[in-house]
Amino acid sequence: MNLNQFNINNFNDFGLNKELLKIIYNIGYKIPTEIQVRCIPAFLRGKDILAIAKTGSGKTASFVLPILNNIKINNDLQVLIITPTRELVIQIYNFFKLFINYFKKIKILSLYGGQNYNIEFNNLKNKPNIVIATPGRLLDHINRKTIYLTNIKILVIDEADEMLHMGFIKDVKIIIKNIKILHQTALFSATMSFHIYKITKNIMNNPEEIILNKNKINLNIVQYYCFINYKFKINTLMKFLETENFIRLIIFVKTKDFSLKLSSLLEKKGYLSSALNGDINQNLREKIILNFRNGLIKILVATDVASRGLDISDVNLIINYDLPYNINSYIHRIGRTGRANNIGKAILFLEKKDLKFLNLINKKFNNNIKRINIPNFNTLLDFRFNKILDLIKKNFYRNNLILNFYKSFLEKIINNLDNKEILDITLSLLILVYENNFSKISYKDLLKFK
Ligand code: ADP
Ligand code: MG
Repeated sequence: MNLNQFNINNFNDFGLNKELLKIIYNIGYKIPTEIQVRCIPAFLRGKDILAIAKTGSGKTASFVLPILNNIKINNDLQVLIITPTRELVIQIYNFFKLFINYFKKIKILSLYGGQNYNIEFNNLKNKPNIVIATPGRLLDHINRKTIYLTNIKILVIDEADEMLHMGFIKDVKIIIKNIKILHQTALFSATMSFHIYKITKNIMNNPEEIILNKNKINLNIVQYYCFINYKFKINTLMKFLETENFIRLIIFVKTKDFSLKLSSLLEKKGYLSSALNGDINQNLREKIILNFRNGLIKILVATDVASRGLDISDVNLIINYDLPYNINSYIHRIGRTGRANNIGKAILFLEKKDLKFLNLINKKFNNNIKRINIPNFNTLLDFRFNKILDLIKKNFYRNNLILNFYKSFLEKIINNLDNKEILDITLSLLILVYENNFSKISYKDLLKFK
């Protein structure tokens, strides 16, 4: 990208407030992303904006920074941001919080389903300047007359194509009707269908259309697929879990029910896993995301409620266990990895009947989706052997003699998995070596793959 084309070399060139700049650099941002270069100047000038840029390209800061720069210190509710999921409301709220701690006079509030009403009522009485909300809960407050959108000057709709789609459009229209004065509207999304694009015309006034990489893919995500008979799906998943090197993983499934089932199965297998779906109570939902962020949970088994907008560092693998509903759902699901400049991997599970979907996304992604081999018996053994060896190395790294002994011994075990006697001795030894780290479950696993 040639930033100079827009006379922007770094964040200093936007003419933003000095305090704001300091915080941007403190957060660790060095240069603005392309969407920020294009969006921030237009936003600062008060233009209506339609911004389409790939997942993980920094759309949030594209609206948060100009909003904070332009906001007035008074008692008016000036800015409204709406977005489809509660998790996204919280995420955007927390991003604002990084700045608001320094701009102490600006008041910001989040409104979303499942949050305690009394807290929201009290906070609304406190006259927030910025509200971030899910449409349902916001409408609820409008109807209760606990919020008035009379003075809104900026409306941001994040995940705009989803918000203008069937599920939300009715609510969004009512919300917009409640904004009386002429205001600036900015829409953000990674995807946009032609049908939705047409609707955007009705809610904006001569917008600046910033459409980047319209049909291009997020090259930071390496995409794979494999065909599996549905009977072997769980078994195959287990094999990938052993052989894939993931820090944090999201497995997308179709139903809420199955998300719970699969997650508890994974927990039984010893994985730090949790389900996330729309039926889980809000406190728990928040705790799950928090634990996933801080590493207490490594695998999230989620429905599409987690497919949009979530920005969680170190999610380096996405498994589409069940087929996404459509191409956009696929794009947003895999977009939970490969964010900012990080690299991610996505694996799509397909059944023979899903060939059509594969052809569709392959067309969209210029045939960049490659076949991945399902790990076979030998691959798994190699992984186990090396894993055990690594552990032993860690425990006995000071004594090479012991290490060499274990190495040749382990080679014998791995090559003789049929021999019951050797397995029994192995189990005793492994328990001795690992103490609590080696459970009977792992032993059974070792047997299973004979
Ligand atoms: P999008 O909404 O486009 O999917 P986000 O706004 O969630 O993407 O940003 C994705 C990640 O990139 C976030 O972790 C964010 O902090 C980071 N990011 C955004 N802008 C920059 C920047 N200029 N430099 C470095 N990292 C950035
Ligand atoms: Mg986003």
